[in-house]
Amino acid sequence: METPKDRLDIMTERMRALEYRMTPQRQAVLKVLAESREHPTVDQIYEQVKADFPMTSLATIYKTVTLLKEIGEVMELNFSGGRSRYDGFNPSPHPHLYCIKCEQVTDPDIETFEGLSEELAASTGYEIVGQRLDFFGVCPRCREIARS
Ligand SMILES: [Zn+2]
Ligand SMILES: [Zn+2]
Repeated sequence: METPKDRLDIMTERMRALEYRMTPQRQAVLKVLAESREHPTVDQIYEQVKADFPMTSLATIYKTVTLLKEIGEVMELNFSGGRSRYDGFNPSPHPHLYCIKCEQVTDPDIETFEGLSEELAASTGYEIVGQRLDFFGVCPRCREIARS
């Protein structure tokens, strides 16, 4: 499993290889995406980057996130009605858990789903080119609040 540091290095390298200019603001966006396990929105990334770089514009965040999405280093997630969420820690397809109350997005234990695509390909004859598998529910914290 890659560490956030690995992810940051990989993203930085790819941006450099494609000759994108690496400004400190861009580097900060990459860092937030590599480190966050919360699947942040663009606004949440903006808030974190702004703490270190108050002059950063929301447009810069958008541009960088879009760029990373295009080169496959960030995965965009859409849940009904909500704003797009981004996973830069793990940009390859994987299932997500979504809390319908607090909109928390979590990566479930991945081992359960390993080999699922291969199995599906074998049983249906499909060449699988992508997947999305989302679970919707109420997280333990929200269930606790509802009980009290
Ligand atoms: Zn919740
Ligand atoms: Zn994820």
